Amino acid sequence: MAGIVLEHEVDWKGFRTAARALVSAEIPPADIVWSVCAEDDLFGAVTSLPPPTLELRLPRALVTLAETVIQAHAPARFALLYRLIWRTAQGERYLLEQITDPDVDRARRLAQSVRRDTHKMRAFLRFREVTTDGATSHVAWFEPQHYIVEANADFFVRCFAGMTWSILTPYRSAHWDGTALSFTAGASPKDVPDDDHLAEYWQVYFSAIFNPARLKIGAMLSEMPRKYWKNLPEAAAIPELIASAAARTQAMIDTPTLSPPRPTKRSHRPLPLPDQSSLAEARAEATQCRRCPLWASATQIVFGEGPTDAAIMLIGEQAGDQEDLAGRPFIGPAGQLLDRALQEAGLDRRQLYVTNAVKHFKFTPRGKRRLHQSPDASEIAACRWWLDIERANVAPAVTVLLGGSAGRAVLGRPVAVLRERGRPMPLPTEQRPQGVALLTVHPSFLLRLPDESAKIREYAAFVADLRTAATLVNNRSAAT
Ligand code: SF4
Repeated sequence: MAGIVLEHEVDWKGFRTAARALVSAEIPPADIVWSVCAEDDLFGAVTSLPPPTLELRLPRALVTLAETVIQAHAPARFALLYRLIWRTAQGERYLLEQITDPDVDRARRLAQSVRRDTHKMRAFLRFREVTTDGATSHVAWFEPQHYIVEANADFFVRCFAGMTWSILTPYRSAHWDGTALSFTAGASPKDVPDDDHLAEYWQVYFSAIFNPARLKIGAMLSEMPRKYWKNLPEAAAIPELIASAAARTQAMIDTPTLSPPRPTKRSHRPLPLPDQSSLAEARAEATQCRRCPLWASATQIVFGEGPTDAAIMLIGEQAGDQEDLAGRPFIGPAGQLLDRALQEAGLDRRQLYVTNAVKHFKFTPRGKRRLHQSPDASEIAACRWWLDIERANVAPAVTVLLGGSAGRAVLGRPVAVLRERGRPMPLPTEQRPQGVALLTVHPSFLLRLPDESAKIREYAAFVADLRTAATLVNNRSAAT
C-alpha cells in the first residue's frame, strides 16, 4: 500500500507529480491511500516513489476537470481523480464521454458544485474598510463550501488591484498588498472588524437597483440564499424593500406621465446661434434651443452645473427621467451611484463640472412610464453646440466621458467604451481647450448589469477609472 501525503488541500502540483509517478510505477488506485498533511506534519509519512519513466499524456478535458475537482471539499476526491487518470492511462481515452460511468458522474457533480461555490464567492464577498494607523485596507470574511480561495484569488486581484485587501476564510486566507499575492492559514469571523462605512454604500446601491414591480421572492432567494445574508450589508435593506414593494409599485402606477407638448411650426425655427458667450448667458439661451426635435417632448432643458474653474468635467449621455423633472444633471439612481463612486475615488462632486452630451430627455412613452432612448448621432451633433460652450468656458484639465454618447460628442467618432476605457487620450487637435479625455462606462450601465459578480467587478473598474482621472489632475497640479 502506498501512502501519498499532499502539502495542502489544493496541492495540484503535488497531486500531479504523484499521479505521474504512480501510473509510471503501475500502482493501481486500490493500493493507494491519499491524505493531506496537517499544519504541524509537513513531513509526515510519504511513500517515496521512483521518478516517472514514461510520459503521461492526458486529454485536456480531464486535466481541466481535475483542476476543478481538486478544490472540492470531499476527502475521496484524490482517489477519484487518480482512478480517472489510471483508467485513461490504461486505454479508456474517451472515459469522460461516458457520463453514466459512476466515477465520471461523481467528478462532474463535484466540479459543478465547485463552480457554483465559485460563483457565490464572487457574487457575495463583501470587503469592509479598515483604517489602521492612518492606512486604509479592506477585509472580507467568506465561508466557502469548497477549497476555492487559491483558485479565485487572481479574480479578486484583477477586480481590486488598486486596493490592499485580505480575504479570510476558515481554511485559508489570501492577501493582496498592491503588488503581490500571498496566502496564510485560515481565520475566524472575529478577525474582521465591524465598523464599516461601505455597508451604507451597499444598502443605497441595492435599494437603487431594486425594482419593486419585478419582485419575485423565490427567484431572489434562489440567487441570493439566506445563508450568505449575514455577510451582505445590503441584506439589511431587503425586509423593508419587500414589505414596501406593493405600495411602491402602486405609487409608480399612479404617478401621472407628462404629456409631450405639441410642437408648433414656430418652434422649429432655428435660433440665431450664440457666440462663445459666458456660461450663464449660454444657459439662458439654451432654454429656447430648437436645434433638434428633443426639446418638444421634454419638460425642460438640463444644462450642466458646477464651478466654472473645475479641473474635471464629467460628461454623461443625456438627461434622464428624474433629471428632466428636476432640471439638474445626475440626480437619479445613476447619479446616486456616480456620487458614491466619486467619493470612493477621492473626488468631491461639488468641485466638478457635471453635464451631458445631450441636454433634453429623449424617451418613448409606454403607458404611464417614459422609457429612456439613446440619442442618435444627429442629436448628439446638434447639442454639441452647447457642450462646446461649456467646455470652452470651464476648460477642464481632464474630461471624463461617461459612455459612448459622451465619447462620440467629444472625440467626434464612435468609441468602443470597454476597449478604450481608463486610459488618458488626447483630445482632437482642433479642439480648444486642450486637455486629456478619459473614457469610462456610464453609471447606468452598472445599474443594468444582470448579476452580482459583474456589478462588483464593473463598479470597482469604474471607481478605478475615476481614480485615474483624479491622479491625472493631481499630476498636472504637481507639474505646474
Ligand atoms: S437636445 Fe440639445 S440641441 Fe436638441 S433641442 Fe435640446 S438643447 Fe437643443
